[in-house]
Amino acid sequence: MELRNFGPTGRRVAVIGQGTWQMESQPRAAAAALRRGIELGMTHIDTAEMYGSGRVEEIVAKAISGRRDALYLVSKVLPQNASRTGTVAACEASLRRLGTDRLDLYLLHWPGRHPLEGTIEAFERLRRDGKIRAWGVSNFDVNELERALRIAGPGKIACNQVLYHLEERAIEHRIVPWCEAHGVAVVAYSPLGQGDFPAPRSAGGRVLAALAESYTATPRQIALAFLIRRPSHFAIPKSRHLAHVAENAGAFRAKLDAAAIAKIEEAFPLGRKRSLPML
Ligand code: NAP
Repeated sequence: MELRNFGPTGRRVAVIGQGTWQMESQPRAAAAALRRGIELGMTHIDTAEMYGSGRVEEIVAKAISGRRDALYLVSKVLPQNASRTGTVAACEASLRRLGTDRLDLYLLHWPGRHPLEGTIEAFERLRRDGKIRAWGVSNFDVNELERALRIAGPGKIACNQVLYHLEERAIEHRIVPWCEAHGVAVVAYSPLGQGDFPAPRSAGGRVLAALAESYTATPRQIALAFLIRRPSHFAIPKSRHLAHVAENAGAFRAKLDAAAIAKIEEAFPLGRKRSLPML
């Protein structure tokens, strides 16, 4: 697996990681898939207190048992819990469910009603106490990123985790340039469109199939390779199937050249400038 510098954290992190949303419905398959992914180097594990109301963090705990030190473990606080004291309590509850004493990264899941000053103060306190190594945000548009930067100062926001797949490239207009200018990692969530992947016979599907053939890869590997084509980018596909996990893990090998990138950009146009979409 390829490792990359993750924003300002000084950590080298797997460019393809593993998502865990909605994994609570098949806990055994989910834990087995996560373990397989870890063996294949997908050591960047993304979870959240929201997922299955905490049950997914318990599944993750089983999957990572005995392997904690090899991981880049990420969880998220829900906006409604993200007050100064609520953030600390939520993090401690996540740590208990995950069976670990620290998170590598803790994110605000999306902007909410609690003042960001309090959330960031709690993040900094958790960091000083060794309960998290770094913190970041998710679903933040540029105005919200600006606000977080004004409050925290430079070099503190590790990443912005955002919706990004071939048919949803809105972040490329303003968020990616902002993150790159400020040394913030960009983590693509739902990178396979939540399973709604271009059909093989669609125009876009045919472009992906042709590129897959020339790169000895699969269309999904080409799609993931496109999403991580910039050094600031990471992706966290989710799968409960061992074969899919292996396919996703192999995506980093397809090093797309400029011509391949241009073909994908033409088949899946950027679209107009608009505010940040989220799931
Ligand atoms: P996704 O990873 O884009 O797609 C998951 C779907 O794709 C599943 O149905 C999975 O089915 C299928 N799939 C995965 N690999 C495949 C492969 N190689 N071949 C065929 N099908 C494949 O969607 P996601 O779960 O929404 O996003 C990924 C992660 O991002 C989440 O799990 C979560 O951790 C994070 N996320 C964060 C936010 C946020 O607000 N911060 C929002 C959404 C998601 P199988 O299980 O059958 O493989």
